[in-house]
Amino acid sequence: MRPYILAETNWKSIKEHQTEVAVLTWGATEAHNFHLPYATDNFQIEAIAAEAAKKAWDTGARLLVLPNVPFGVNTGQAEVDLCMNLYPSTQLAILNDIVEVLNRQGIHKLLLLNGHGGNNFKALLREVGAKYPEMLLVTTSFFQTVDRTEFFEEPGDHADEMETSLMLHIRPDLVLPLEEAGKGEEKKSRLTAIREGWAWSERKWKMVSADTGIGNPKKASAEKGKKYFEAVTQQVANLLIEMDKISNKDRYKDL
Ligand SMILES: [Zn+2]
Repeated sequence: MRPYILAETNWKSIKEHQTEVAVLTWGATEAHNFHLPYATDNFQIEAIAAEAAKKAWDTGARLLVLPNVPFGVNTGQAEVDLCMNLYPSTQLAILNDIVEVLNRQGIHKLLLLNGHGGNNFKALLREVGAKYPEMLLVTTSFFQTVDRTEFFEEPGDHADEMETSLMLHIRPDLVLPLEEAGKGEEKKSRLTAIREGWAWSERKWKMVSADTGIGNPKKASAEKGKKYFEAVTQQVANLLIEMDKISNKDRYKDL
């Protein structure tokens, strides 16, 4: 039993350990090219949260990882088989309820750890945060914590070399042989501003990728995944350690 994982711990242990920071992971259930499981984002973010929490806990940080939310925003994949979808407004309702519970229980710090590119929590946390001003609400996506180009050769953002390597490290039993994977080729927008990255429009997955992947997974390896996992979990642990120590009322540095 890991005392920093709510799903595994018990009321006896909870009464013995004060919780300063709650961690909520949020993934998705969606097709990941031909070779990765639908719950790839959930396996990844749960493993990252557990390992980061362990690293932080071992330094004395008082934290608790809540059960993962397994469905994310997949409006762009509406036509792809069995891609599940929660609308952002549903996510807002869920977040609101969870933050209300934490606030009532006197846990005033939350790290919302995102595992899926379609989830976008900034606007939601602005709205929830306005109702609970005593809360420190922080969010990051695991894929933004370190510079991925230091670990991987091929660019991508879905079922790519990075995700395939991570899964080969975390759950190799669920990864099909790489010969089964498509190349993850992405059709780019005809709009110059979108190609240049200064305008945005949601990608319509069926029009963009033939195999649902974006990014070539062929150079993935468990070894690359392990190195990346170590770096990401250390970054997240560092954030949790600082969040444990900070005073919500004094969260900015003096000039
Ligand atoms: Zn994914």
